[in-house]
Amino acid sequence: MGDTVFVLVLNAGSSSLKFNLFDMGKEVSIAEGMAERIGLNDAILACTIDGDKRKETLALPTHREALEAILERLHAGVLHDTPVHAVGHRVVHGGPKYGDSVLVTDEVLHDIEAFAMYAPLHNPANALGIRVAKETFPDVPHVAVFDTAFHHNIPDHARTYGIPYELSQKYGIRRYGFHGTSHAFVAARTAILLCRPLRALKIITCHIGNGTSICAVDHGKSVDTSMGMTPLQGVIMGTRCGTIDPSVVEMLMEYEHLDYAAITDLLNKKSGLLGISGVSSDFREIELAAESGNDRARLARDLLTYNVRQFIGSYATVLDGVDAITFTAGIGTHSTYVRAKVCSKLGFLGVKLDPEANEHGTGERIISTPDSRVVVTVVPTNEELMIARETVR
Ligand code: ADP
Repeated sequence: MGDTVFVLVLNAGSSSLKFNLFDMGKEVSIAEGMAERIGLNDAILACTIDGDKRKETLALPTHREALEAILERLHAGVLHDTPVHAVGHRVVHGGPKYGDSVLVTDEVLHDIEAFAMYAPLHNPANALGIRVAKETFPDVPHVAVFDTAFHHNIPDHARTYGIPYELSQKYGIRRYGFHGTSHAFVAARTAILLCRPLRALKIITCHIGNGTSICAVDHGKSVDTSMGMTPLQGVIMGTRCGTIDPSVVEMLMEYEHLDYAAITDLLNKKSGLLGISGVSSDFREIELAAESGNDRARLARDLLTYNVRQFIGSYATVLDGVDAITFTAGIGTHSTYVRAKVCSKLGFLGVKLDPEANEHGTGERIISTPDSRVVVTVVPTNEELMIARETVR
């Protein structure tokens, strides 16, 4: 094993637990997988260990049993002679306090639970994952890596909402931003693709997946981003509404007789691409339906690309120019259509897409022409590796 460090990365959702085991000597993942439908008798556990893919249906009553089942499989495979030196945890919200990754102490865990006020769907699950993992691995360091951390220092004028200032201060109501590990990762990779230092570049990173956020990265630092206090704001997403007039919420609550839980559910789980198209939250299905003439699927598709373009235009102003635009996450990495459509009206910025490179390449690459004033890149994100790196750091 030599001096290498093995890091287990965990991402706990309300009914899921994703894991990834990294050999940080080589920065490679040696095992990965996910338990889904935790809490049910027919939960699903999918693992790829030693290159061997397996999917099982089993009862996983809680996250504890899920982690135990994962470790059992790891011990039977790679882990029989591989120690876990540290555990890195993805935590969605670091609240006003955490602008960097931290070693998990009782105080940190308490804070993560308290910040459920900003991320009620995510932080309680993240905290539960940490508790279970700390009991299982009591003697190794656990590190919390926050989605919000990269955006911690965006300027006041970019993060302040137009509500009474005292209330913003009292409750920490402001834009926090998310997908920070992804934006930081793809911005750094883009600088490498451009063979230029990150600290010399103005980059707009477009993370377009089930959740979508756009980020203005100025010389390596996030200076604005499209998500807000919660991951609901900004571009429309798979099932989230994105930015809407707050009065819509009041109106729907009154006329549809919705309480807080019902409106939260509607805006988070029944809106966005799914709500508009009535077809699916999955963009591949939206594309197919749009191509076969479904008007609502076309509308959903158009709204997504329009929103992304709006933010790129806005952030070109925020950055006072732009050197590179980067596409990442499921849709950004794979949808030729979305990239072409978004870039089709960015000629005024000096963007010239190379249709060949956009259509036919794979993986990390430049997809603009050599004479394009703005370099456009595709960079598959790797949030798990970023969390492992942060854990080692
Ligand atoms: P998450 O936010 O859950 O990590 P992903 O980044 O995996 O999401 O993105 C999921 C989205 O990517 C889905 O809408 C899916 O349809 C879309 N997607 C994945 N592959 C393709 C593809 N080949 N073409 C278009 N969209 C794709």
